[in-house]
Amino acid sequence: MEKILNYINGELVSPKNGNWIEGMNPATLEVTSQICDSEAADVEAAIRSAESAFTFWGQSSVSYRVQVVRKIADLIEENIEELSKIESMDNGKPISASKSVDIPRSATNFRYFCDAMTQFSSECHQTDPGLINFTTRSPLGVVGCISPWNLPLYLFTWKIAPALLAGNTIVAKPSEVTPMSAFFLSKLCIRAGLPGGVLNIVHGHGHKIGETLNTDPVVKAISFTGSTQTGRMIATAAAGSFKKVGLEMGGKNPTIVFADADLELATSGAKRAAFSNQGQICLCGSRILVEKSIYSDFCHRLIQKTREITIGDPLDPKTQHGAMVSGEHFNKVMKSIELAVQEGGKILCGGNSVKPEGLAGYFIEPTLIEGLGSECRTNQEEIFGPVATIIPFEGEEQALEIANSTEYGLAASVWTKDISLAHRMSEKLEAGMVWVNCWMERDLRTPFGGVKNSGFGREGGLESLRFFTKPKNICISY
Ligand code: NAD
Repeated sequence: MEKILNYINGELVSPKNGNWIEGMNPATLEVTSQICDSEAADVEAAIRSAESAFTFWGQSSVSYRVQVVRKIADLIEENIEELSKIESMDNGKPISASKSVDIPRSATNFRYFCDAMTQFSSECHQTDPGLINFTTRSPLGVVGCISPWNLPLYLFTWKIAPALLAGNTIVAKPSEVTPMSAFFLSKLCIRAGLPGGVLNIVHGHGHKIGETLNTDPVVKAISFTGSTQTGRMIATAAAGSFKKVGLEMGGKNPTIVFADADLELATSGAKRAAFSNQGQICLCGSRILVEKSIYSDFCHRLIQKTREITIGDPLDPKTQHGAMVSGEHFNKVMKSIELAVQEGGKILCGGNSVKPEGLAGYFIEPTLIEGLGSECRTNQEEIFGPVATIIPFEGEEQALEIANSTEYGLAASVWTKDISLAHRMSEKLEAGMVWVNCWMERDLRTPFGGVKNSGFGREGGLESLRFFTKPKNICISY
């Protein structure tokens, strides 16, 4: 059984308390690993190691950082087969997704920020004659990066890459539910020649690690992706030492289909938005709003497409829908389906747990539910599973009212051929990102993040590099 060790000061080490957490394959229920159950002493060691490495890394040239980080990207690509398998076994996601999305994107995150950093320059300001006024950007120092389980290596590297390239040293905390790919990454960092202490990875439960990471004054910033509840706790704890905080949190995103939409495209898009990664993407469209005149036709088509989704062994290349990430999360999602029925919802398809042949794990059918008002808990709370509701609306005003009626504001997708309507909706939707006639098209230069209880700050391109640096304005009179 594999031991998932901490990566501190360039070495792979056991937790100081000698305690371990069991890691499980959610598709088979086999115990696959023992994960460090780290506590304050391990986090303190990681922070001290990062602090000491900063004196060198923070002063190093961009070209040197780029050279080391590119090597990490190369090694991820060389190990794509093994990393994809690990990711699917740890998370339950189909291997086709790990291999075509999660792992390639992790390498791309490093490569992209290598390029972005070389374009990130100081600003020079036009000012009064006799004065030179410019703004430099320097690294913050030691930063914390905390990531969730749904896209484990993809989101972990999305934070680490810009932080490293901007010259910071890092104490990173992957999810304890899916730590295997981050552990593999630590071995690749050693092989790539990343100097010890520049990146430290501490495994274990969030609340134990967070106690120190969120409060230690040496840590200058925390970049967090995860639930709104945890984000709130981190922001509160980090306020004591005035850390910079970036929060990417939950969503209850609307997919809004107008009567003039291309129905074939819209149903395919709504299905992908609702059920990709077993519905475990923050951007998933879990509320499908459909204009009344096409409601029954749309539902009929979407139900048909949803029933065609192949549920199966995550390691089978033909599988489109794998296992839920853990028993705890499986129970939470099954309870949400029960709640929807108690609230008066009618299940149009799915609604059950299933066991694909030979697998004992946590599988839930893609589920569509109708008949629920927008105020009910099912339409207000993030489920983060393969469960979407369908809600009829009449006209633009009502679509907006329903779409904006939750505490969340991460993303929305709008399906229409009317360009003016698309613009009006995009302007009025309370969301950090709006897709029109598409979903989850991502260009890494664009700002990513939410409004309301979905987020605070943005990631991507310049936004990430600005987050991980501090500006200093210098004015010289000559
Ligand atoms: P979570 O909040 O439970 O955990 C996220 C990370 O925070 C984990 O590594 C966890 O161990 C850690 N953590 C927990 N308590 C902590 C504490 N007190 N201090 C420091 N760290 C702590 O979220 P999850 O269940 O892993 O992920 C699912 C959630 O993430 C969903 O709400 C989803 O919408 C959200 N998410 C958001 C985005 C985004 O970009 N907006 C992307 C992916 C997932």
